Amino acid sequence: MSSTNIKRKIGDIYTEAARTGRPVFSFEFFPPKNEKGEAQLYATLEELRAHHPDFVSVTYGAGGSTRDRTLEWVRAIQDRFGMLAMAHYTCIGSSRVDVEKMLSDLYSAGIRNIMSLRGDMPADNPDYQPPADGFFYANELIAFIRETRPDFCLGGACYPEKHQEAPSPDVDLRNLKRKVDAGAEFLVSQLFFLNERYFDFVKRCRDIGIEVPIVPGIMPITNFKQIERFTTMAGCEMPGGLVKELGKVAEDKEALQRISLEFSIKQCRELLDGGAPGIHFYTLNQSYATMHILDALR
Ligand SMILES: Cc1cc2nc3c(=O)[nH]c(=O)nc-3n(C[C@H](O)[C@H](O)[C@H](O)COP(=O)(O)OP(=O)(O)OC[C@H]3O[C@@H](n4cnc5c(N)ncnc54)[C@H](O)[C@@H]3O)c2cc1C
Repeated sequence: MSSTNIKRKIGDIYTEAARTGRPVFSFEFFPPKNEKGEAQLYATLEELRAHHPDFVSVTYGAGGSTRDRTLEWVRAIQDRFGMLAMAHYTCIGSSRVDVEKMLSDLYSAGIRNIMSLRGDMPADNPDYQPPADGFFYANELIAFIRETRPDFCLGGACYPEKHQEAPSPDVDLRNLKRKVDAGAEFLVSQLFFLNERYFDFVKRCRDIGIEVPIVPGIMPITNFKQIERFTTMAGCEMPGGLVKELGKVAEDKEALQRISLEFSIKQCRELLDGGAPGIHFYTLNQSYATMHILDALR
């Protein structure tokens, strides 16, 4: 057991770091599905621990499919690796009783930070309606937790290039404001590759009174096939020049990694120089890219 204060609030970390101008670095993991994945994540945690993240986070599977594993990994990361860990939680499909049970379990495990999300609409049920006593949007979940369990520090998700369901950037932004007004203390962004999109988004947020830290989420490219997934699923635009360059070396893993890392390092540097409060790395449970980018930044 390490001496890390696992009950520290992430909102306070951003506030304190802002005072000294220090960037906050955080890593995101997902709960592995099998033994091979578990071994991989243990190895990654071992390596990344040496890079002293301010906190790490563990995602929550669609429809609660990883409920117990998310909880177990957050605990393991705190207890065995001594890192402050935040649990993601999606409320879609959950009744109020389910939410209350999860909050109690998180609290009992010493977890005080929750990335509070709605989650994706079920692909097989476009007319989904939440249980009568459930929550539809993240702002409703956040308001409920804030009211009933004020001991938790809550983060929320944001989308510099607009959430895919939102009819317009302005509507999405107004919905984001509801989330912050309900009690989200910091926001972590969807991955993106064009920094101007982030800076423009932050400006628009500030203009409508969203004052909380807006943390860029960065995912280094590790293979060419990911690119299509980024652009279709995450709805983010990729710089044409980068796609072209990567396309030329699509089959050459080393060259692809080199170009991708150079791009990510430059992207993160620009973000931090431009005032971003830190970087949240979508690690995909791999350590190599995150370690290299961090080394270059520090
Ligand atoms: C940092 C980050 C972490 C994530 N982690 C996970 C994870 O662990 N597990 C997982 O399954 N998914 C995760 N996701 C994906 C996320 O669940 C999806 O993007 C989901 O579709 C939206 O969740 P949300 O919390 O942003 O929803 P919301 O904030 O509720 O927004 C969803 C949509 O509804 C609109 N909206 C919001 N509030 C209202 C309102 N009051 N009235 C009308 N419209 C409204 C918004 O404009 C948006 O279009 C993550 C995303 C990010 C950026």
